[in-house]
Amino acid sequence: MLAELEAKRHDDVRWGEGRTFGLVFDGGDEVRDVAERAARAFLHENALSTAAFPSLGAIQSELCAWTADLLHGPEGTAGFVTSGGTESILCAVEAARERARAERGVNEPEIVLATSAHAAFHKGAHLFGLRTRVVDVTGDWTPDLDAMADAISHRTALVVASAPQYPQGVVDPVTEIAAMAAKAGASCHVDACMGGFVLPFAALEQPQAWSAPPWDLAVEGVTSISADLHKLGYAPKGVSVLLHRSRALRRHQTFDFDGWLGGRYVTPNLQGTRSGLPMAAAWAVVRFLGVDGYRRLVRTALEAADRIRAGVRATDGLMVLGDPRHHLLSITADVVADRPLDPYAVGDAMASRGWHHDRQRPPDNLHLTVSAGNAPIVDEWLADLADAVDEVRSTGDHCSEPESGAYSTLE
Ligand SMILES: *Cc1c(COP(=O)(O)O)cnc(C)c1O
Repeated sequence: MLAELEAKRHDDVRWGEGRTFGLVFDGGDEVRDVAERAARAFLHENALSTAAFPSLGAIQSELCAWTADLLHGPEGTAGFVTSGGTESILCAVEAARERARAERGVNEPEIVLATSAHAAFHKGAHLFGLRTRVVDVTGDWTPDLDAMADAISHRTALVVASAPQYPQGVVDPVTEIAAMAAKAGASCHVDACMGGFVLPFAALEQPQAWSAPPWDLAVEGVTSISADLHKLGYAPKGVSVLLHRSRALRRHQTFDFDGWLGGRYVTPNLQGTRSGLPMAAAWAVVRFLGVDGYRRLVRTALEAADRIRAGVRATDGLMVLGDPRHHLLSITADVVADRPLDPYAVGDAMASRGWHHDRQRPPDNLHLTVSAGNAPIVDEWLADLADAVDEVRSTGDHCSEPESGAYSTLE
């Protein structure tokens, strides 16, 4: 059976070789070993009942306390461990809806968010019956704040900021967004799913190049924040942390029900039965790495991302969208070059050399999440990019006119 399972993996991306930018984040042999041993020990445990498994109660509160400390949570910050970024965001949306109803009598709740905010907010709106008010981004890919101010109303339950946003990797102006939300009495969620375990350490490592204006719970008006341990926290899949500024805010999220024959049923997030594996593995990874370990991995990842960005910017016909400073970037056609390159054609040529890049649009671009596991192969990637560009240029037929209009003005 194990051989059969192994055979099924034949066509999977080879993340262990650092050739995948996203999806799996590899902290190295020792981190994997620590995670696997903790995972094995907690494979069967069920966090549905922390009365039966006090170990899992302690693991969760220690993960939350450590994250709250990292993200400048004030006294009283309270959180939960969830299965991932999407679940953290869904819970934040639901909590904001409940709060708006309870405090302001909002019966037709709305979420105000930019086109750069993660799709999970739309999923939350869809599931929990909120209307979305979507605003555009400006030239630097951060939300249009005037449009956001116009969209906020007495119906607004939640205003979204991202640190950084996923598509281009830039950090939103959290202070300004949170102030608008607070003025309306609405909640403000900071989606730090990507940045939560990167930005704090980046600021310590290279304050000049890698720090960002205040973006976490240090900002008055931010009511909740999410950070994914299973991304740049280097834990295996299935774990994220959602923090609320106070216990009172967190209460809007918990489901507490006694109206059936099975006893009082209290759950913090969307799950019932809940594996102890991801939280135990994450706890072990956090304990193993500590602040020093994370600083080392963040430096490795950000130096790799800086080298990749420099290589792309030096390539005639390609460019990086916006000015991302951390571990995300997207590569698109340089519309002011003499011969812009079709990024998807470059993506095809890179794929035939064994590199996996997610595609997104508009405009057509290749997306990279760079983590420490990619660092050893940056030279190889840059060499293959040069080859791939030559190939696209020589076949010629892939060279397409990039779309004109809105996007060319965004640079
Ligand atoms: C990954 C991500 C999410 C969603 O998290 P999942 O763990 O994939 O569910 C949300 N927001 C941002 C910015 C992300 O990068």
